[in-house]
Amino acid sequence: MTDPDQHWTAHAACRQHDPDLWFASTHHGTTRATQVCHACPVQQLCLDDALHLARHTPGLTGIWAGKHATELRRATKNTPPTTPKG
Ligand code: SF4
Repeated sequence: MTDPDQHWTAHAACRQHDPDLWFASTHHGTTRATQVCHACPVQQLCLDDALHLARHTPGLTGIWAGKHATELRRATKNTPPTTPKG
């Protein structure tokens, strides 16, 4: 069994912030969320999961791994499928 504290999400920088920031409707909000993501120690692992999510969730919204859902959907058209880790 995996120790939940060892899962990469335990180190996610967004855990220290209001989750609504990643779904903000203002430019200021989305910019702030993106800044937190770019300083996050697990951004690459998050991006791997986000690409998988975007590939399988047509209505995905919000900021994931510092990228807007629309960017992620666009990226999935140019990358091979990923398998989430953890
Ligand atoms: S990169 Fe992912 S895990 Fe890190 S702060 Fe952004 S949304 Fe959270």
